[in-house]
Amino acid sequence: MNDTLQQWLGDQIGLLKDQNLYKPLVVMDTPSGARITVNGKPNVINLSSNNYLGLANHPNLKAAAVNAIGEWGAGAGAVRPIIGTMRVHIDLEQRLARFKHVESTLVFQSGFTANAGVIPTITDGDDAIITDELNHASIIDGVRLSKAARKIYKHNDMNALEDALKETSSAKKRLIITDGVFSMDGDVAPLKEIVALAEQYNSAVMVDDAHGSGVLGGGRGTAYHFGVHDKIDVQLGTLSKAVGTMGGYIAGSAKLIDWLVQRARPFLFSTGHPPATAAATIAAIDLMENDPSFTERLWENTAYWKAGLQKLGFDTGISVTPITPVMIGDEGKAQEFQRELFNEGVLALAIVFPTVARGKARIRTMPSAMHARQDLDDALTAFEKAGKKLGLI
Ligand code: PMP
Repeated sequence: MNDTLQQWLGDQIGLLKDQNLYKPLVVMDTPSGARITVNGKPNVINLSSNNYLGLANHPNLKAAAVNAIGEWGAGAGAVRPIIGTMRVHIDLEQRLARFKHVESTLVFQSGFTANAGVIPTITDGDDAIITDELNHASIIDGVRLSKAARKIYKHNDMNALEDALKETSSAKKRLIITDGVFSMDGDVAPLKEIVALAEQYNSAVMVDDAHGSGVLGGGRGTAYHFGVHDKIDVQLGTLSKAVGTMGGYIAGSAKLIDWLVQRARPFLFSTGHPPATAAATIAAIDLMENDPSFTERLWENTAYWKAGLQKLGFDTGISVTPITPVMIGDEGKAQEFQRELFNEGVLALAIVFPTVARGKARIRTMPSAMHARQDLDDALTAFEKAGKKLGLI
């Protein structure tokens, strides 16, 4: 092994520890659920999962996965454009297109690779990308892979977006990119206004709806919620969060999908999902389509949880979705709060730099459809006790 590299790694890790930015992995010893065993500790209330609807451990999804293994085997055997596309992959994409009310969809291995796949594939050197400053890391990486010029606009600021559109008038094509639901604050993008500006300035629009998928618009996402799904050129959804399995997909026109199949590098050069993932995802769409009680319970719990935290005196920021931050500021204090909460039987992870800006540390909580009232009440008791101990409320 190379000593210079090992020395550098040790120094970097030491620096992170000095700045309270070092985060060891937290390990679940049970399936994802409202109460889990974490690092060997049983019966911990889980407020950090993106398993919004509780589908990750749903019997229908598990049965579909098991059946698919019996029918199709454990893996796809090749990248999709060679001979790794099975009928079950196509069935899933057709189901997703119907569910999203779009012409076509293409599934990638993850939301992250979908962003890295689509952004550089539909933009080139004569183009401009106009992107919200709080967009997800995978959008940022996708933009970095593109040769297009880029403008970053102030978060959700429509004047700043309009200025950026004016400044990029010489670009051949333009693409505005925004998260639908912002993953650290839980606020949503004003998609109607964005679409209006895009029409006025002849720009395309892409929405990363990782946290809107399965959550807003009856599960169909933020664009559907605002009634503009037919005006968004590129919708990205994840299957990894509310849908309960794994993957990302692009939803849009048949031409868009046709082009991505020919050119999107993660699709071309990395193997697709095991058939079990595709089959379990179809089972999840069946549930979302036929049983509104999943999203109804999610939103009831969200309202109850937010009101409870606010009544205790916590600052929940600007969230309007299940993503509910408890704003702290200082990185060390946020991590101390996380430890206190864990001692009280609650898993609610601190989010610190570089995931959010320095000095904007927070505890990010996500109630889900799985939580019973008692789970949320017990969690509120823990937040009250730990919050008072640390002088936060
Ligand atoms: N976009 C956003 C906004 C996200 O929050 C995430 C997940 N953290 C992703 C994309 C990536 O999704 P996946 O986990 O499926 O790679």
